[in-house]
Amino acid sequence: MRIAIIGAGFGGMAAAYDLRKAGHEVIIYESADYVGGLASGFKEPHWDWSVEKFYHHWFQSDSSMLGLIEELGLKDKVIFPRPYTVLLHDGKWYPFDSIVHALLFPGLGFGLNKIRFGFVGLYLRLTNDWKTLEKFTADEWMRKYAGSAVYEKMWKPLLVGKFGPFYKDVNMAWMWARLKARTTRLGTFEGGFQKFADLFGEKLREMGVEIRLGSSVKFIKRNQAQGISIDAGGMVDSFDKVLVTTSPNLMAKFCPDLPENYLKGLLNLKSMGAVVMVLSLKRQLSKEGYYWFNLPKETGYPMLALVEHTNFVSKEHFGGDYIVYAGDYLELGHEYFSMSDEELLERFTPAFKKFNPEFERNWVKKIWVNKTNYAQPVPLVNHSKNIPAIQTPIKGLYFASMSQVYPWDRGTNFAVEIGRRAARMMLGKHQ
Ligand SMILES: Cc1cc2nc3c(=O)[nH]c(=O)nc-3n(C[C@H](O)[C@H](O)[C@H](O)COP(=O)(O)OP(=O)(O)OC[C@H]3O[C@@H](n4cnc5c(N)ncnc54)[C@H](O)[C@@H]3O)c2cc1C
Repeated sequence: MRIAIIGAGFGGMAAAYDLRKAGHEVIIYESADYVGGLASGFKEPHWDWSVEKFYHHWFQSDSSMLGLIEELGLKDKVIFPRPYTVLLHDGKWYPFDSIVHALLFPGLGFGLNKIRFGFVGLYLRLTNDWKTLEKFTADEWMRKYAGSAVYEKMWKPLLVGKFGPFYKDVNMAWMWARLKARTTRLGTFEGGFQKFADLFGEKLREMGVEIRLGSSVKFIKRNQAQGISIDAGGMVDSFDKVLVTTSPNLMAKFCPDLPENYLKGLLNLKSMGAVVMVLSLKRQLSKEGYYWFNLPKETGYPMLALVEHTNFVSKEHFGGDYIVYAGDYLELGHEYFSMSDEELLERFTPAFKKFNPEFERNWVKKIWVNKTNYAQPVPLVNHSKNIPAIQTPIKGLYFASMSQVYPWDRGTNFAVEIGRRAARMMLGKHQ
């Protein structure tokens, strides 16, 4: 078969790998001039490693991604350092990324609330019954079982931070997936995620996959005689099968011929965008060496997460620069999407002093601001009924995106899983 894949993110590349291995002709269209998609990175001339545009790490439970890396013979390039994630209580930061730290965290006292927090956490780790959990909002389920005090302190800030105005509508299966599939140790690739994406891209090319960078798809159409044709800005080509790995909105735009029901399903899916500033600094921001600061919205910080990347991997990889991310998940239309980089820096600067009172504006060497409309799908109650099928109603046309990895939360691990699942379906194998 002659197969096209739209998108050279990890989902598209994983699908290409299996389809090519099965002996098919595979062409990837990618609008950017690099591979890696949302997990891509960039590099200053004096850096040895790249920095992800949006903070990224793996969990030890990311079996699809780690399995693929092993198949590619790159397992020895994956490292799992032990960075520290911290939570704010009474103006002080406390490590909060292991059972021991949770037990020691003073924010819940040491009585009934701590016990309820522990039991609910344990239940969610042990159960696999996400289908029952998805019938409830996380807000109602947590209030009932963990109690309002525990919910308000521990879980509500997480929901508000990630989902803003939708926080009360998110279902409990999302929370379950978050607790189920995460580990204390966090992983990355030597050289950064972009290094891995480039090596994967090279491997695909060696296998015979054609990757058309800078090739932005405009339309996809089913022609009875020639199969499915793709129009990439005037260049039209025909294929037996096509897999799209972009956002549901783009999929709907590419292919207005999809039946109304499927189109409606795509357009009804909700998601949040993200704005993330990367800074290179002359000095270390967190003196304690903390990696990830969770920042509850009600504490007035102008961002949701402050992440000091060089407290995860060594600053030596970045020519001695300290790398910090300041980011937030936001609704489209939020003012951060239209602010200039300098305006955003002005907005964030007072907050940096709260992490280190000595911080001065002249510590900032350079900033980069990355924005995306499609960063975090929002799963509503009974969401499993709203997931668009991978095989669309148009014969030969397939769709695999972050919005379909549910009940899992989006992540490169699940991009690989769904990309490979889509490839199996395209090959006519069982899912
Ligand atoms: C802020 C943030 C933090 C994250 N943190 C983590 C993390 O810590 N760990 C983790 O594993 N994951 C994380 N993720 C999620 C992870 O990045 C995604 O789940 C994953 O990269 C999705 O891969 P994908 O292949 O499905 O889609 P994408 O990576 O979005 O790939 C789709 C590709 O399609 C291309 N494309 C779009 N339009 C066109 C067109 N018209 N023509 C041709 N090509 C087109 C895009 O350029 C892109 O390369 C994070 C995401 C965000 C936004």
